[in-house]
Amino acid sequence: MINKFSLAIHGGAGVISKDTPPEKVEAYNMGLREALEAGVKILSSGGKAIDAVVAAVLSMEENPLFNAGKGAVYNSQGTHELDSSLMDGTNLKCGAVAASATTRNPILLAKAILEKSEHILLSSNGADNFALEVGLEQVNNHFFDTEHRYNAWLKAKSNDEVLLDHTAESKSSLGTVGAVAMDIYGNLAAGTSTGGMTNKNHGRIGDTPLIGAGTYANTATCAVSCTGHGELFIRNCTAYDLHARMLYLGLNIETAADMVIKELPEEAGGFIAVDSSGNIVMPFNSLGMFRGRADSSGMLETAIWE
Ligand code: ASP
Repeated sequence: MINKFSLAIHGGAGVISKDTPPEKVEAYNMGLREALEAGVKILSSGGKAIDAVVAAVLSMEENPLFNAGKGAVYNSQGTHELDSSLMDGTNLKCGAVAASATTRNPILLAKAILEKSEHILLSSNGADNFALEVGLEQVNNHFFDTEHRYNAWLKAKSNDEVLLDHTAESKSSLGTVGAVAMDIYGNLAAGTSTGGMTNKNHGRIGDTPLIGAGTYANTATCAVSCTGHGELFIRNCTAYDLHARMLYLGLNIETAADMVIKELPEEAGGFIAVDSSGNIVMPFNSLGMFRGRADSSGMLETAIWE
């Protein structure tokens, strides 16, 4: 037992205007703080990293400001397809869901797949049927609707664009969510959840549910959750890349993260990561990334821009 814990979260990266009205900035910060508090509550009472990650992500899925769960963006058909994944760094167990349409909380479905399925990645109807079998709440796809995402979709559609949620709404909105944690036993876990990109092709799957691209955790090195232009993170196997650089090159998390973010194309987005000593990095190469961190010293802070 190392008797200290660390938690980092993100609420998406992208073109986040510095002219965002202060009340909106405060609402984002409040959403991030609530997610941090949900995770800290578990970690400070001796709970596991994986449970803290699920609690933090769940809090943001339930918050309509974020592009995950309620508040997810719209695809090209005007519906919502949600992606999520979860990985336990202690045993490399993982669960992931792609293009879920009716499960209220995709992170809970990723957890159920991790715990109860012999498979790792389930998609669309098959994933939602599995959720139903294990007793997870099902909703009509319209449950995920919000006016601000609908208007962003109409705009993207009229310009025939596929956009990151922040870019789509330019001056507002939060995005994909993720969390990474180290618990007091030194275990690491990572989880990510998203509605994907505004006006994405129906059936498109991003980096979020792909282990090694958008999410990775190995207690020997680090736990990682990415956000940004999913195709770029898939191409670069970004989450695994951070782990691999630490493992094979013997680099510390700061140096490895620096190399990984520099190799991503400009404006790709960013990631959050924690190592097995509780050190946190949160690099991004977009204009901003909604993020926050907390640890056992009582520190709890949120940030958007550099
Ligand atoms: N990475 C997500 C995707 O491409 C989007 C995001 O992070 O905002 O689906």
